[in-house]
Amino acid sequence: MRTLVAGNWKMHKDNAGTNALLDAICKGAAPAPGVEVLVAPAFPFLAQAVQRCKGTAVHVAAQNCHEAAQGAFTGEVSVPMLGSLGVGHCIVGHSERRLYFGETDRVVGQKMSALLHAGIVPIYCCGERKEERLAGEHEAVVARQLEEALGALTTEQMAQVVIAYEPVWAIGTGLTATAQQAQEMHAHVRAWLQGNFGAVARRIPLLYGGSCKPENAAELFACPDVNGGLIGGAALDAATFLAIVHAAGHAPH
Ligand code: PEP
Repeated sequence: MRTLVAGNWKMHKDNAGTNALLDAICKGAAPAPGVEVLVAPAFPFLAQAVQRCKGTAVHVAAQNCHEAAQGAFTGEVSVPMLGSLGVGHCIVGHSERRLYFGETDRVVGQKMSALLHAGIVPIYCCGERKEERLAGEHEAVVARQLEEALGALTTEQMAQVVIAYEPVWAIGTGLTATAQQAQEMHAHVRAWLQGNFGAVARRIPLLYGGSCKPENAAELFACPDVNGGLIGGAALDAATFLAIVHAAGHAPH
C-alpha cells in the first residue's frame, strides 16, 4: 500500500507565491519508494504547476471540478479541462465545498463519475461535524456519505479512488483527531469498503485530514489503516509540509 501526502492550498498563494512554494517543495521532496506527494494549488496556477513539477517527485491535483464535461456554467472548471493540463488527481466533496457551496453527496458522486471516466483519481472527502461526533453518530454519518457518493461505483472504479477522512471539527481548528479516533474511523471505512467492494478495500488509500502537522503526523501515519494525509494549513510552508512528507516516508507500513 502506498502512502500519500497531499497538500490542499485552498484559496491561498498568488502567482509568485505559488511558484515559490512549488519550487521549494519540488526541491525538497526526494523520491521515496511507496510515498506519493501531491500539491493542489488554485485553478489559475494548475498549468504552470504541472510544468514546474515535471521530472520531480511531486504531482499536481485540483481542488474541485464540475460534473459536466462542458457547457454554460460560468466560473466552473470541467474534468476534461483538468485532464488536458495533465492534472492526475482531484479533491472532491471537501467539507468547505459542502458547507459554503451547498455540495451534496449526489453531486459529489457525479463529479466522481466524471473524474473516473477521464482517468483522473478522485480524492473523496468525508467526515462528520462536531455535533454528530458528540451525539455518537459519526460512524453512521460517514457510512451514509460513502453510500451516497460511492455506492454505485463498480469495483474497477473503486480501485482508482482515494478516500480522505476529514472530521469537520478538526479542519483548520488546530484540533486533531487522536490516533485512536482516526484509526477507529479508518477501520470503519475499510470495513464498509470490504463489505461493498470486497478485497479491493485493502488497496484503497485512506488519508487522514484535519490539523495534521509535523508534531502529530508520525503517530497518525503509524496507524494500520491510515495511509497518509490531506494537509491544509501545514501545506502552505515548504519546510512544514516536507516534514510531514518525511514522516510518511518513515511510516511502518
Ligand atoms: C483540509 O482542509 O483538507 C485540511 C485538512 O485542513 P487543515 O490541515 O488546515 O486542518
